[in-house]
Amino acid sequence: MKPAPFAYARARSLDEVFDLLDQHGPEARILAGGQSLLPSLALRLSSPAVLIDICRIKELRFIDEASGVVRIGALSRHADVESSGIVARRLPLLAQAMPNIAHVAIRNRGTLGGSLSLADPAAELPACMVALNATLVVAGRTGERRVAADDFFKGMYETAIGPGEILVRVEIAPTPAGAKTHFAEFSRRHGDYAIVGLAAIAGRPGPKPGELRLVYFGCGDRPARALHAESALDAAVPAERRSILEASLKSDLDPQTDMHAGPQTRLHMAAVLAERALAAFSH
Ligand SMILES: Cc1cc2nc3c(=O)[nH]c(=O)nc-3n(C[C@H](O)[C@H](O)[C@H](O)COP(=O)(O)OP(=O)(O)OC[C@H]3O[C@@H](n4cnc5c(N)ncnc54)[C@H](O)[C@@H]3O)c2cc1C
Repeated sequence: MKPAPFAYARARSLDEVFDLLDQHGPEARILAGGQSLLPSLALRLSSPAVLIDICRIKELRFIDEASGVVRIGALSRHADVESSGIVARRLPLLAQAMPNIAHVAIRNRGTLGGSLSLADPAAELPACMVALNATLVVAGRTGERRVAADDFFKGMYETAIGPGEILVRVEIAPTPAGAKTHFAEFSRRHGDYAIVGLAAIAGRPGPKPGELRLVYFGCGDRPARALHAESALDAAVPAERRSILEASLKSDLDPQTDMHAGPQTRLHMAAVLAERALAAFSH
């Protein structure tokens, strides 16, 4: 199929973006890497009247570290994040996650900001942002707003980005030395969206998980932190882990049914992923 007709505007600055968003309101859609938006237009799942192309706004494509925080611009492509030395050194969880996102050709065009703004519940990056306690910075005509990752993802394809705003960068505290990170997912083929995935961090080194953060994706309408499992596992010995996980993940997660799996299968996969993370942390 071909997209419905649309107008196209290329913005060269954030002010131009805000002008265009004011002018066209909800009829307009931001175009970043186009890796999700263009297929959705071609399939006529959406038909905005105007696309506002932000790709040429150079100040949105950067990765740096300043005042103890890693900052990643919204137009940083997945490939930029994947090959970044700062990300590899400071945010190992993110470095582990990147190769799981789609395929090389898509990672060469798709952007961090596009993935977070789309808020696909099966996507890797939203869960990483929640696990890393990231701050997402959105900007509009009147200035910037900082939103904790926990509050940014509102539901399936729904975020805290308001009318007239775009996501401009994320800010993430580096993972402390000694903390361990683990990223894994079940998908039909490598590069497919996850059926269930897990982004996990254990804050203290040692045999017990300690300050564990378990954030699932593909298991509900947004990234889901497994708070019951985290606190129950903190005090558990390895032999108790499976029964604790089976009991607590039922309270933490609300898995959906789709063509890949039902809730029981997803809960089982979630428990297996957590067990593997804990095993990795104990080495
Ligand atoms: C075959 C295939 C497989 C894929 N597999 C995966 C996968 O396994 N995991 C995964 O996470 N993704 C996957 N993707 C999606 C890919 O990661 C996209 O790059 C990403 O979801 C969107 O990024 P984009 O820059 O292409 O955004 P676009 O497609 O340009 O935009 C996506 C949405 O975000 C909005 N938007 C974009 N940038 C901003 C911004 N800065 N502020 C506000 N709104 C904005 C747009 O208006 C649009 O609604 C896959 C895509 C394809 C085609």
